[in-house]
Amino acid sequence: MKNFMKKAGQFLTPNYRRQPIALVAGKGMKVWDSEGNSYLDFVAGIAVVNLGHSHPRIAGALCRQAKTILHASNLYHILPQTRLAELLVKNSALDRAFFCNSGTEAVEAALKLARKYGKEVSGRGYEIIAAQNSFHGRSFGGLSATGQDRFKKGFEPMLPGFKFVEFGNIRQLKKAVSRRTCAVILEVVQAEGGINIAPPGYFQAVRKLCDRNNLLLILDEVQTGMGRLGTLFGYQFAKVRPDIITLAKALGNGFPIGAMLAREEVGRVLTPGSHASTFGGNFLASTAALETVKILLREKWPERAQKTGKYFLKQLKALKKNHPAIKQVRGVGLMLGAELAIDRGERVIDEMRRKGFLINLTQGKILRFVPPLIVTPQEIDKLIFCLDNTLRKFDAEVN
Ligand SMILES: *Cc1c(COP(=O)(O)O)cnc(C)c1O
Repeated sequence: MKNFMKKAGQFLTPNYRRQPIALVAGKGMKVWDSEGNSYLDFVAGIAVVNLGHSHPRIAGALCRQAKTILHASNLYHILPQTRLAELLVKNSALDRAFFCNSGTEAVEAALKLARKYGKEVSGRGYEIIAAQNSFHGRSFGGLSATGQDRFKKGFEPMLPGFKFVEFGNIRQLKKAVSRRTCAVILEVVQAEGGINIAPPGYFQAVRKLCDRNNLLLILDEVQTGMGRLGTLFGYQFAKVRPDIITLAKALGNGFPIGAMLAREEVGRVLTPGSHASTFGGNFLASTAALETVKILLREKWPERAQKTGKYFLKQLKALKKNHPAIKQVRGVGLMLGAELAIDRGERVIDEMRRKGFLINLTQGKILRFVPPLIVTPQEIDKLIFCLDNTLRKFDAEVN
């Protein structure tokens, strides 16, 4: 066993199932491990590094900022944070921004805001409806909103007031609304849940239901935001107006930052002292995100991702035709999945890694492709070629 693996086994809490490599450098679509092997990265740090690894402009901005001032807290104005808020607000249908350090914290802020709004403005209760198979983070709030029991095991009891309905099923959602309901929280496309796409018209129906009952619609865009679905925000793909969205993952292109954006009437409920974060929106995080969003917009990466994503999906569909080991392919923009018809999907991941491709497995059987948005058709071809070879030996397992 490699030395770094031995040490990790000895000194770290064993909560991650890590692959047996240590990545030490990256550039664009490529990453290198500690032994000098290179990989094409179709994971992007779990849909994070949308502009590719070590982007020179982001690295430059971070270095300059690090040499100037790192942290002062939200007791004072933080100029890059205000600029970032302005940029996000001007390019979205939301009006106010709160910054934190992760997706979980962004969800936490949204849940807290929804309860406060329910109590102080809409006069409804504290109940929040979420979807089965959703993923909203690992804090007690995020976990309580998550519709997958395996993440909750050992940590019960969850927070009270969460109800779950089938994702994409408007009838169930309608039935679940009660006098105490204040909000609905959904992902635009369920990512961790296995790339699940709602049927057409679903989000419009959800919006109508929310309007009729004075409920807030929270879209957890931690993974669907920042160009991933071929639009800057996922709600633009779904063609629905949310009251709150959460962002994180790709917002800082790898630098940790989370955000919650809210409509004016909703956002202003977070009065002074009601919610806070020491590090939230600090100089480095805001600088990274500001540079990231500027580049995403200026270079039109969401639109380009839409095109590349279409090509990618087409190639996956062609691949499926020749491989019984693939049960179904699906996706939006550059969030794509290939559901395997075989058990122990991690064998495909391992084999692909040995051949120089990083891909992710979700739900134990769905190959998830969330590459940097800068991925080229040629790089997609290389991946498909290698998958074609790799899947051949698994096809026989399908009867
Ligand atoms: C990843 C993810 C989260 C959690 O974000 P962290 O930064 O890991 O806390 C929450 N919601 C969705 C939809 C996610 O994909």
